[in-house]
Amino acid sequence: MLADKDRIFTNLYGWESPNLAAAKKRGDWDGTKKLIAKGREWIIDEVKKSGLRGRGGAGFPTGLKWSFMPKEGDRPQYLVINADESEPGTCKDRDILRHDPHKLVEGALLASFAMGAKASYIYIRGEFYNEAVAMQKAIDEAYEAGLIGKNACKTGWDFDLYVHRGAGAYICGEESALLNSLEGKKGMPRNKPPFPAMAGLYSCPTTVNNVETIASVGEILRRGGDWFSSFGNERNHGTKLFCISGHVNRPCNVEEELGIPLRELIEKHAGGVRGGWDNLLAVIPGGSSTPMLPKSICDTVEMDFDSLREVQSGLGTAGVIVMDKSTDIVQAITRLSQFYSHESCGQCTPCREGTGWLWEQMKRMTRGEALIEDIDVMLDVCSEIEGNTICALGEAAVWPVQGLVRHFRSEIERRIVEYRKTLVA
Ligand code: SF4
Repeated sequence: MLADKDRIFTNLYGWESPNLAAAKKRGDWDGTKKLIAKGREWIIDEVKKSGLRGRGGAGFPTGLKWSFMPKEGDRPQYLVINADESEPGTCKDRDILRHDPHKLVEGALLASFAMGAKASYIYIRGEFYNEAVAMQKAIDEAYEAGLIGKNACKTGWDFDLYVHRGAGAYICGEESALLNSLEGKKGMPRNKPPFPAMAGLYSCPTTVNNVETIASVGEILRRGGDWFSSFGNERNHGTKLFCISGHVNRPCNVEEELGIPLRELIEKHAGGVRGGWDNLLAVIPGGSSTPMLPKSICDTVEMDFDSLREVQSGLGTAGVIVMDKSTDIVQAITRLSQFYSHESCGQCTPCREGTGWLWEQMKRMTRGEALIEDIDVMLDVCSEIEGNTICALGEAAVWPVQGLVRHFRSEIERRIVEYRKTLVA
């Protein structure tokens, strides 16, 4: 179990004040000026050395992403922080925003300096009203103390940080839709290329990073990339916030080492599965879009990017949704199909038409009002959606269905057989 001294987010539960004085006592803003004095290259190298991979879901190496930004040029450069946390089962960034906002403000300054960005925007999910207020308060405190703004931390670097509230659309968590929304346009994903590092916000070089990623940067630079990479395993370094919800005795957010066994995570931090481990049916390991895992895999799987990919799922946002044997597993996935159908922006045909069709099929499967062959037709449509859309919502919509059929096909078939018996009777 991760020791308290190795935790980055020491006020995750809001037991102390989020204000500047309390944040400084916890170590934030300690030696920020010295870190900046080491230079842009040093910061990027240290983040590369740490092995930090994006904490928003994709898991792309953060230092490498930063290095894609032009070293010089006549266009402004931007860091945009994605606080549009909307993936069902995920609520980690929310706790950073409301309880540990100075970690994000300091991280934004350091990351922006490293990428030559004089301005940064935090795009906050519309429903996070209180979090936006808390964030703005921290930004105001930092301006007042001279930590950001003109000559930030007396480094000679000018840096402005803004909060922008979204209107509550899931798709605005996709980075290019987020940029469109930030520009005042409809929140619809853009075709790529060009990628944001070349043409992002206002067509200027932009990096979009998740809240947890940026909020980790100050502590990583203070303690060193080697310190961070000493946690986890090869290619999956560092600590990570996990959100554990569903049928556990104590749902919680917790910071742990990447690679912790799923069973240990649930039993040590969430009080175990309701009714005991043997009452477990399945777990969605990384937010609603990641394919579920049956108990037999949950027994041994480790919680990191690569281990979960090996079992045909993913770490995603590390939103762990636990389902015990009382769960109607087909109905549960049908509800997710409804969600993704509702959140499709409608821009591309496979997603616009396919997500609605999938939801309709899943409703039939829940009732058993289908033919056994329809299961394969449904899988075929999933493969037509997957990889054929502008953004990853297409995949997000099909993965839960594919995971269900992969592991619980017999349950779907049982319902179909039962239903047909009622017709005969
Ligand atoms: Fe919009 Fe769906 Fe296409 Fe993404 S995949 S751009 S959400 S229609």
